[in-house]
Amino acid sequence: MSAGTSLPRRWRVRVTESCAGCGLCVIAADRYFHLVDDYSQAQHTEVDPDEAVIAAAELCPMNAIEVVDAETGAEVVPTH
Ligand code: SF4
Repeated sequence: MSAGTSLPRRWRVRVTESCAGCGLCVIAADRYFHLVDDYSQAQHTEVDPDEAVIAAAELCPMNAIEVVDAETGAEVVPTH
């Protein structure tokens, strides 16, 4: 993370209904995601910015992880 980059204070994290339950996000960031009834859920709906959340979202083969600025709703990780 480079100095001078202004990150939002909080991110809102949500796993959508596209989740296929592969578990990659849990392996990548078990502080933020867990499997419930074979599907991923965010452990916390709002988190402090953390690269691990972005890594998990980018790993997700279903693009099922939404990460947005909690204040503005702007996408932190683009969904495709
Ligand atoms: S990586 Fe994506 S598809 Fe796999 S469990 Fe996590 S949210 Fe679901």
